[in-house]
Amino acid sequence: MTLAIDLTGTVALVTGGSRGIGESIVRHLHAAGATVFFTYQSRSDLAERLAAELGDRAVSARCDAADSASLPDLVDACVSKFRGLHVLVNNAAIFATNPFDGGSFDAWRVGWRRTFDVNVFGAADLAWLAIRYMRAHGGGRIINIASRAAHRGELEHADYGASKAAIVNLTKSIARSCAADGILSFAVAPGFIETEMAAHDLELDRPKIVGEIPVGYVGRPDQVAPIVAFLASPLGSYLNGATIDVNGGSYVR
Ligand code: NAP
Repeated sequence: MTLAIDLTGTVALVTGGSRGIGESIVRHLHAAGATVFFTYQSRSDLAERLAAELGDRAVSARCDAADSASLPDLVDACVSKFRGLHVLVNNAAIFATNPFDGGSFDAWRVGWRRTFDVNVFGAADLAWLAIRYMRAHGGGRIINIASRAAHRGELEHADYGASKAAIVNLTKSIARSCAADGILSFAVAPGFIETEMAAHDLELDRPKIVGEIPVGYVGRPDQVAPIVAFLASPLGSYLNGATIDVNGGSYVR
């Protein structure tokens, strides 16, 4: 018996693949043999460099997850470029401070709406589109990148935490609704990971953050991405609807 993650012949669509956790997911899926169609929002330089480095099993495309009207074309572009779609990784998200004691009601309202537009509606819309394709083509996997914040609540990012709780619940609904069509769904919930998204909070008080992490350090993208590669593979075939916490023990449920 050999035990290895082999994604040869698998086409994956990964949002937010230009940097951070998404970039590492793209690299790990590709290294396991998958063909990867990944997106960026503004950093075309990073995305093009990554696609060029990986070669002909990787392509990047621009996507604003909040622009729902553009998402059908994105899924179509992946399917027509690589003749399939087996795995969707909803990774793109935003994380902006929006405290309860902020001075502006407008800023509060705008923050919640923008966060949900990208983190929830973008992911749900892409899931719907991918499911429609997967149903007609033998099934697939929908992997949603959630967060520890989904379970713990956030002090200054309540909108972000709520958006990630919604993603966890979306995952459960897909898992229960779509398994009969061969579609499985999982969420991955990282704690603090060294990326641009976390950089501001880490700069403000790294010792406090690390003090809450039993393993004693902030995680790396390459400690999240292999979990996604595993979930995309046949090795995870009896998991469905589960959320995998990847947080160094900083929040144990
Ligand atoms: P990041 O470093 O900020 O990277 C975000 C990625 O999403 C980039 O590729 C960015 O594209 C893309 N993106 C941003 N806004 C977008 C939009 N409106 N539409 C489409 N794509 C957009 O984030 P990260 O830390 O790697 O986070 C990845 C995932 O892990 C997110 O779902 C995040 O919530 C989750 N997470 C992260 C942490 C952490 O500590 N880092 C903890 C828990 C959960 P450009 O490069 O073009 O801007």
